[in-house]
Amino acid sequence: MNAAPIALAPVKTTCPYCGVGCGVIAVPDGRGGAKITGDPDHPANFGALCVKGSALGETLGLDQRLLHPLMERQPTTWRRALDRIAREFSKAIANHGPDSVAVYLSGQLLTEDYYVANKLMKGYVGSANCDTNSRLCMASSVAGHRRAFGSDTVPGSYADLDCADLIVLVGSNTAWCHPVLFQRMQKTRETRGTRIVNIDPRRTATSQGADLHLSIKPGMDAVLFSWVLACLADTDAFDRDYIARHTSGLDEALARARQIAPDLASVADATGLAAEDISTFTEWFCATQRTVTCYSQGVNQSAQGTDKVNAILNCHLATGRIGQAGAGPLSLTGQPNAMGGREVGGLSNQLAAHMGFSPADVDRVQRFWNAPRMATAEGLKAVDLFDAVAQGRIKALWVLHTNPAVSLPRADFVRGGLAKLDFLAVSEANRSIDGLLDRAHVVLPASPWGEKDGTVTNSERRISRQRAFLNEAGEARPDWWAITQVARRMGFAEGFAFESPAEIFREHAALSGFENHGTRDFDIGGLASLDKESFDALQPVQWPLPAGMAPADTRFFGAGGFFTPDRKARFIATALPAPREAPSAALPFLLNTGRVRDHWHTMSRTCLSPRLAGHIREPFVEIHGDDAAPLGLADGDYAHVRTAHAFATLRVIVTSDQQRGMLFAPIHWNDMTAGAGRIGPLISGFTDPVSGQPETKATPAKISRADMRAFGYMLAKTRQELPRWLVHARFAARGGEAIVFASECAPSELHRLLSAHWPDERAKTATSDADGQVYQTVVRRHQRAETLLVVGPNREDGAFETALEQFEAENRDGAVGGFNQAEKSGSASVSLGRIICACNEVRSATLRAVIAAGARDLAAIGSACQAGTTCGSCKPELQAMLARFADLPVRL
Ligand code: SF4
Repeated sequence: MNAAPIALAPVKTTCPYCGVGCGVIAVPDGRGGAKITGDPDHPANFGALCVKGSALGETLGLDQRLLHPLMERQPTTWRRALDRIAREFSKAIANHGPDSVAVYLSGQLLTEDYYVANKLMKGYVGSANCDTNSRLCMASSVAGHRRAFGSDTVPGSYADLDCADLIVLVGSNTAWCHPVLFQRMQKTRETRGTRIVNIDPRRTATSQGADLHLSIKPGMDAVLFSWVLACLADTDAFDRDYIARHTSGLDEALARARQIAPDLASVADATGLAAEDISTFTEWFCATQRTVTCYSQGVNQSAQGTDKVNAILNCHLATGRIGQAGAGPLSLTGQPNAMGGREVGGLSNQLAAHMGFSPADVDRVQRFWNAPRMATAEGLKAVDLFDAVAQGRIKALWVLHTNPAVSLPRADFVRGGLAKLDFLAVSEANRSIDGLLDRAHVVLPASPWGEKDGTVTNSERRISRQRAFLNEAGEARPDWWAITQVARRMGFAEGFAFESPAEIFREHAALSGFENHGTRDFDIGGLASLDKESFDALQPVQWPLPAGMAPADTRFFGAGGFFTPDRKARFIATALPAPREAPSAALPFLLNTGRVRDHWHTMSRTCLSPRLAGHIREPFVEIHGDDAAPLGLADGDYAHVRTAHAFATLRVIVTSDQQRGMLFAPIHWNDMTAGAGRIGPLISGFTDPVSGQPETKATPAKISRADMRAFGYMLAKTRQELPRWLVHARFAARGGEAIVFASECAPSELHRLLSAHWPDERAKTATSDADGQVYQTVVRRHQRAETLLVVGPNREDGAFETALEQFEAENRDGAVGGFNQAEKSGSASVSLGRIICACNEVRSATLRAVIAAGARDLAAIGSACQAGTTCGSCKPELQAMLARFADLPVRL
């Protein structure tokens, strides 16, 4: 905890978003904010940040913060709240046994938070019902690694991207989801001539920066990599020596691969790819020793995710391209501390320190912890856990830093199931968490990024410090502290006598080295004796780091040494890919889901930044033009998207980037930021049989036009509640918020309904245009406009942007006029389009003008309007605009 006030000196910490794990420097301003820049000394990013990272300073306000404990929705004290959690958990265990309680964790937690939560559940409660939202993110990679390597080991490093000759990106929109790594790959491409192949059903910003895009049918990655394995065999590209010395099971895996992918024609048929594209890819793969294959959610979030991972690993094992400079498989994790969670055992099928539930592991951990009641078997995985909640089998649940009521598949089912709990505790930093806080019996105000202190591990096994640079706001407290306090109240004081994250980290490090002797991959025993000062000063460090070993080349498996009983890797004979759900006449499309460039998960942090809001403001669905036309759907329309579970109403984007027969919708919006825009409820979530990770990329769906009759917007200095039925999106504007909406009501009726929201008639000025079609209400307070509501029969993006600009200008520099005299202003104006470069706030209209004026490459665009000159996340979109408007090929 931050007992002493924090000084205003620069603090080195780590970005809280994606698994790249960029180092940042925060300089507090003394008013609760901070200036954020990239840390030039951090080996993950060398000073670079993407737009999300560079906008972190805009997300530090207290507007949305939970600052005090709540019990039954009423303020309470920490003491009462902690007593209640301990009492309810103890009662459920006494009455129904240890498996009647559960904790659900998050990749946002620090390793020290994760460690004590896992220790409490698996060593003291005696249940492994301790799972994490990382289950939705990369559990299939974990399972694939464990099957092949005998351990959950990421063999390579980011440095391999600097010296690879071929980078294969599978199921990964790296340009948007791991932007700093993507820029690093682009640099290698430029300086080394490295080829990049992007395998993804959608054409994305990543494809824009690739030499070859393979628009594969969903779920067919294992077919393609089975074909690669067969081609490697046929072209004598196998590393026979490596195979003989360090692996087993090749014959069976190769025979299965030949069954799955018997010839080029059948591979082309199964994958939907052109035969010549498949041949180009396999030729490049077979001929290139320095190949790195990066895979992400498109591989993991699949009902066949583990097989996809193993199909990729098979190809790397067969060529010995593993643990070598510039060669290896590299799983890109989504969350900032997904890897740290894996290390401590945050997944319900792991025990701790990468150990499982073998009797020897259970015994070893029990002795180390001196634990009174060890879990001896795997617990429930996320989807099964919330099924058990809905069935009333879980009586008491503690959710920390995640919102299963939005992010899990069948989210409405999950939301409804929470009512079956006898007791729900939630640890959360923000109030903007819908569907969870109002169901919680106890809410604990948790310290967020900037106020908490500990460690995180990124995708390349690099442990970095997350350091506090702000004082704790209100009564917020760190999660490790809350968990240890509850453990003590449950009678486990001896095991939870920690007074700082440093003490927890020491124990975690010591456990990793306990009776290890090189038998387990995760060993950071060399950090087990860090005192508080050394922990505070800890530099980013990659594991393994056993006691007595100086940091050196930390790659794994270049010379074998796998963590199976015979120290050999296993080739896996993967199953023939078969979709769990196929499209039907009633649900003829497959719904794919994913992320957008400038938002993160359920937007609880990124929704606070006006800059990040400008790139993509509304939830949307993408559809191919050939699918859209027969349905009467045009770009910019609204559409209802239905699955067997729920429906959403979304803005339509018609694009040839989408495969025919597929839809794509982003996951970010919830009931706090949109109406009818949540995607989680639509997803079936069939799980991979090995990893338990749910499929979120291929749910059968239908789409139909929504006949909107009224469109409009609202600009307000304070949050305005809107009816649930209204299709809308809400986003941050400087000095307040903006909302755009559409409805099947007539404009006059919609205006009447919405303006009734402000009962004080004296504060309102209602007008309509000369044709009686556009209705407007201005609400004033002390002569100043507070809220503007405009409703009309057409969507007027230009008028909205003009009003937004006036609103923000008035809030920025107090200019009177414009927004304050909104009822006198005309509505006609030209749309400047969406923000493309968020760092420099350059919109699409400006870019079109710059290209029309002669800019023909990224450098010319940059010098004309600065777009693309800061973080580089927008470069793929700039390149696409150049190709579209200037018809010139440009390399990044
Ligand atoms: Fe943060 Fe962006 Fe770096 Fe990811 S790539 S860690 S979001 S700055």
